[in-house]
Amino acid sequence: MRLANKIALITGGGRGIGRANAFAFAREGAHVAVVARTESEVVRVAAEVKNECGVETMHAACDVANAADVARVFAQVTATFGRACDILVNNAGIAESVPFVKTDDEFWQRHLAVNLNGTFYCMRAALPAMLERGWGRIINIASIAGKTGAPYIAAYAASKHGVLGLTRSVALEVATKGVTVNAICPGYVDTDMTTRALERIEAKTGRSATDALEAIKRMNPQQRLVMPEEVAAVALLLASDEGRGINGQAINVDGGTVLF
Ligand code: NAP
Repeated sequence: MRLANKIALITGGGRGIGRANAFAFAREGAHVAVVARTESEVVRVAAEVKNECGVETMHAACDVANAADVARVFAQVTATFGRACDILVNNAGIAESVPFVKTDDEFWQRHLAVNLNGTFYCMRAALPAMLERGWGRIINIASIAGKTGAPYIAAYAASKHGVLGLTRSVALEVATKGVTVNAICPGYVDTDMTTRALERIEAKTGRSATDALEAIKRMNPQQRLVMPEEVAAVALLLASDEGRGINGQAINVDGGTVLF
């Protein structure tokens, strides 16, 4: 039990990578708080995790782009578990695509608000208690789009580049305090986010979703999608005591697509 009795807060825990993280952490003994905007999904994941793993769980509807919502949820975690969270996984994210010249203010701001501001709000809410306790883990789910660019995803890539800058800076600021801050950079993962991307390609280009899926698999040298559980396994290492020497890193889980 590598995370026995730790409290882990996972944003975007209602499905996909966040859901896999909730299970991975709970199987190692962590009590988990699962938050996202869709209440029915976080209710279900919290119940399933509790049922399967026998840990305490909490769920809350929360928009991470809203600082007041984030503050409310962190207070709720402390009230529910009797202390603040030890581990924060900033996983909530959105990814849409549009040609750059058609990127309007609303589209741009929405990507930065969820992916970058949301990560900032949650880190700022989590850190004081971690620093006071002298132990904490922050894991930001970024993307290989946080290291490289790609057509039609300027807003998403910019937001994820921002997450890496935030990760590296705060990691250095807290390095002597028992707290680590790292990012994980997945390639294409087998989740709803990728399914929606394939549907958009089909709608906009007429290329079939099946063809588009084969094309994105070929972008990965392993010729496949990454599974959510593979991302969760890296998060688990970063969250554990054994991972304490890993700080300020941006670890790719992409089969070798990006080599830096
Ligand atoms: P997903 O299946 O679409 O799940 C995203 C989760 O984030 C959902 O629970 C969603 O719930 C939540 N979320 C979205 N906006 C939110 C907001 N404003 N406040 C709170 N929660 C919010 O996507 P996923 O593939 O698991 O992606 C998880 C993370 O991995 C994202 O940060 C994504 O950028 C990153 N990533 C994904 C891939 C990929 O290929 N799938 C690749 C690289 C990086 P609600 O909609 O109910 O709020």
